[in-house]
This record gives sequence, structure tokens and C-alpha cells, in this order.
Amino acid sequence: MSNIKSLYIGLDFDGTVVHNKYPELGEPIDGALEVLEKLVKVGHKLILYTMRSEERLAQAAIYLEENGIELYAINDNPSQKYWTKSPKIFCNLYIDDCSLGTPLLVDTVNGKDGRPYVDWEQVEKLLIERELI
Ligand SMILES: [Mg+2]
Repeated sequence: MSNIKSLYIGLDFDGTVVHNKYPELGEPIDGALEVLEKLVKVGHKLILYTMRSEERLAQAAIYLEENGIELYAINDNPSQKYWTKSPKIFCNLYIDDCSLGTPLLVDTVNGKDGRPYVDWEQVEKLLIERELI
């Protein structure tokens, strides 16, 4: 463990961890797993925060597990029931291709549809700047 304060980090899946190809599993986005591994290693709690459900949700969770990324929770923050009745999932930070401010690239390679996806190289720089990894 480091002296970095542990944060709850909401993590979207499609367009964030993998390229947008829902309901299928898209190709991995460069750098995603490496940065996620660093976040977990320093003690942050990752909450998979996705619109996926049932078997499509399981597919995403298994993908992360098989790639060694430990999740704290899925579409839930079990700690918040002690201090709020709000249905919003509390996170200190959200990494999501639909979040204003998350650095994005546009997917024009491999015949993709031009949808934006998370630029993990830039996300990593932001996390380092904020001393979160
Ligand atoms: Mg998304």
C-alpha cells in the first residue's frame, strides 16, 4: 500500500475498457488494463458502473477478472448504505467515455464506427498529476 488516499472509482465498460461493440465484447482499449492495475495496486476501489445487465454484465465482469483487475463492486457501492439512502452509486471519480472531461480518442481504425473511446494515456497522465497513482 502507498500513502495515497483510497478512492471509489466508477468505471464504465463499453468505450472505456473495451471498444464500443455492445452487445459483443469489443477489442481491448490500449492502456486500460495497465492503468486499472495501477489503480488497484495503490489501493483504490474499482466499481464497475455500466448499463450492461445479466449475461452481458457477467461478460464484462469476467473480462476484468480474467485480466487480473479486482473489482470492489458492480453497479453498487456497498459502503454508502451506512450514510445515505440515495440510489446514486457514490464514487469519488468516474472514468467513462460519456463523462465530460474524460480524455477521448475517436475510433477510426479497424473499420470502427468513429465512436469516441477513452484515451488511457491521457487518463494516466491526469491520475499522475493528481497523485492518484
Ligand atoms: Mg460507455
